[in-house]
Amino acid sequence: MNNTDVFADAVQQLERMASQADVGPEVVAALRQPKATQIASLPVRRDDGSTSYFTAYRCHYNDVLGPTKGGIRFHPGVTREEVQALALWMTLKCAVVGIPYGGAKGGVTVDPKGLSRMELERLSRAYIRAMADFVGPDVDIPAPDVYTDARIMGWMADEYQAIKRVKAPGVITGKPISLGGSYGRDEATGRGAYLITRELAKRRGLDPTRSTVAIQGFGNAGYHIARLLDQDGYRIVAVSDSKGAIYGDEGYDTEQLARVKSEEGSVTAMKGQVQLTNEEILELDVDILIPAALESVISPTNADRVKAPYIVEVANGPITSDADATLVANGQTVVPDVLANAGGVTVSYFEWVQNRAGWRWTLNEVRERLEEIMVGAFFDVWSHAEAKALPLRNAAYALAIGRIGEAITSHGTREYFRPLVKLRGKVPTGPE
Ligand code: NAD
Repeated sequence: MNNTDVFADAVQQLERMASQADVGPEVVAALRQPKATQIASLPVRRDDGSTSYFTAYRCHYNDVLGPTKGGIRFHPGVTREEVQALALWMTLKCAVVGIPYGGAKGGVTVDPKGLSRMELERLSRAYIRAMADFVGPDVDIPAPDVYTDARIMGWMADEYQAIKRVKAPGVITGKPISLGGSYGRDEATGRGAYLITRELAKRRGLDPTRSTVAIQGFGNAGYHIARLLDQDGYRIVAVSDSKGAIYGDEGYDTEQLARVKSEEGSVTAMKGQVQLTNEEILELDVDILIPAALESVISPTNADRVKAPYIVEVANGPITSDADATLVANGQTVVPDVLANAGGVTVSYFEWVQNRAGWRWTLNEVRERLEEIMVGAFFDVWSHAEAKALPLRNAAYALAIGRIGEAITSHGTREYFRPLVKLRGKVPTGPE
């Protein structure tokens, strides 16, 4: 699947899942398309004096539960459709973990590895100049995603505050600690996914010390879940990054992997390892497979060759909807992204709360609150799945769509129903 089909696939999956949620057709209608997507062309002055133009997106998907929230991705594969799919998943994710946000996402079609540090800073600031009236602490709050990090969030927060002439650190999360970032944000996605995997293992009686794990994508999220599973005794037998994958039957020391990646640029530089491709790592005979890179990597072409009985989606949308049906039919347990990787947005929420309250929490406070939310969300999804005999994804979607539906109904007719009534030429009867 290419990045222009991903949104259609996400909507199709939503429609399929909504049939198992207790909501009316107006809720599905409200979630079938984004509220608004802003597209801009960003001029960026290069170090040689020339100017390059990059296409930038920001999508507000649905804001019925609160201001919208979602990361910004810098990647050559970014398309409008990809950004919209990611924003839809953010909407569902915030509802699954019960935090008061709607869903958004942003991106720039760019290979950031081809930019100097100064060019990257100019691009980051240009993004905010283009989107300054579309984001804000009460409107839409960006965060990091693939190939964006705390340093980039710091530049963006600074640019926003300069444009608006206010101190508003809550406009962006995932900032450096010195600029109002939260302790524990860097590890949050991996830690949240680790907590979910731990709960799953308890329910399924998996013994960590006898279980093997393969992780596709040893970036921020992939590294932190690897580190925490390693600490619990899991054997991390394969990891990968954009350059390829490595396999080691005895299991890796994840700190050593991180050192090699940071010093040599890729985990594949580890000496004397079996080298695999990023396709082969998905087909390994391991207990837990963790796709933690990009979307649509498990599709109908390879779903039948995926052997792991447990798949934890740390990446957003790594399994296409048809492939998901195959895995479920084959008896494999898939922990969906909207639950598994929700730790990132949860600690982003904590950062925003701290910024607005002018209060800094300790790392332990952040970790305790994250654990409470992740374990609670796992319990909700697991219980719903058991009660209704549903796969975990269907249960998570049903809960999320139900919560969003309740808010849409509570909103009354103004925002959601009146435009439809108007289109049909009828006069609204309720209050404005
Ligand atoms: P990152 O940029 O830190 O890491 C991405 C990793 O994927 C890198 O190691 C990169 O080399 C690797 N990669 C890139 N292309 C690849 C390919 N074709 N095959 C295999 N590996 C490849 O990004 P991240 O923040 O860790 O995000 C990873 C995934 O997790 C994304 O799907 C993202 O949307 C999702 N996610 C991230 C967060 C967060 O807070 N960072 C939160 C929720 C979900």
